[in-house]
Amino acid sequence: MPELPEVQTLCTGLRSAIAGKRVERVVLFRENLRYPFPEHLAASLEGTIIEDVQRRAKYILMPCGSHHIIAHLGMSGSFTVGHNALANRHKHDHMIWQMEGGMDVVYHDPRRFGFILLTDRDQWHTHPMIASLGVEPLEDECSIAYMQQHMRHSTRPIKIWLMDARIIVGIGNIYASETLFRARIHPNTPAYACIDKAEMLRACFRSVLHEALASGGSTLRNYKNALGTTGYFQHKFQVYGREGQACFTCNDTIQNITHAGRSTFFCPSCQAEPAS
Ligand SMILES: [Zn+2]
Repeated sequence: MPELPEVQTLCTGLRSAIAGKRVERVVLFRENLRYPFPEHLAASLEGTIIEDVQRRAKYILMPCGSHHIIAHLGMSGSFTVGHNALANRHKHDHMIWQMEGGMDVVYHDPRRFGFILLTDRDQWHTHPMIASLGVEPLEDECSIAYMQQHMRHSTRPIKIWLMDARIIVGIGNIYASETLFRARIHPNTPAYACIDKAEMLRACFRSVLHEALASGGSTLRNYKNALGTTGYFQHKFQVYGREGQACFTCNDTIQNITHAGRSTFFCPSCQAEPAS
């Protein structure tokens, strides 16, 4: 599933390719992804200029004309740019934008958990999916005081707390495991017990996310960036996906436990169990 670094990498690539360019034609190959395509999507976009490509949490925001496009990649979605996409359409290409100058933007999504929405211009932040989101992890708004305020009364495991997008957005399953390894915190530790480590924890998720961004994200199954190439942060994972393998730090065996149905990878020696 694309997480913050992958979505940001995609936004950066898309912005450089299409920002300032006019959409000449929108071709849809089905009526819906996770949700139906907006009724007047083609009519709303054709003739308008995609002015920018921005990210909020894992949403891709594109102001154009009197609208904002809100796109989400779901489990396996991608936008790629290329040429002659209509003639060379691949299976699971569900939408093509023909841009001025002959470039095409293709939305591809085998599992179709992604979606495309339209709001009135500059009203994207009031959309119900976005209005309740927490702070961005790499921005100043993610302060130590803010984190501690939300940790203080939380008995949930810190792994689940870190992934709660109502508090901090964009730290998904991969980066939560990698952050806690780097912070030497056991994933079952109650959030309130980490309150004195908030600054160190923030430094760890920021460094993990920055390094993943610098690597173009992580490629597991379906993720590709706007140019159709893949990221390589997955080669730097310390714990994620390494169950049964030796810890690079201490040689103990990486373990896998489940939180809220998601796998959590950790080293039992580097990340000691909290005293109960
Ligand atoms: Zn270890």
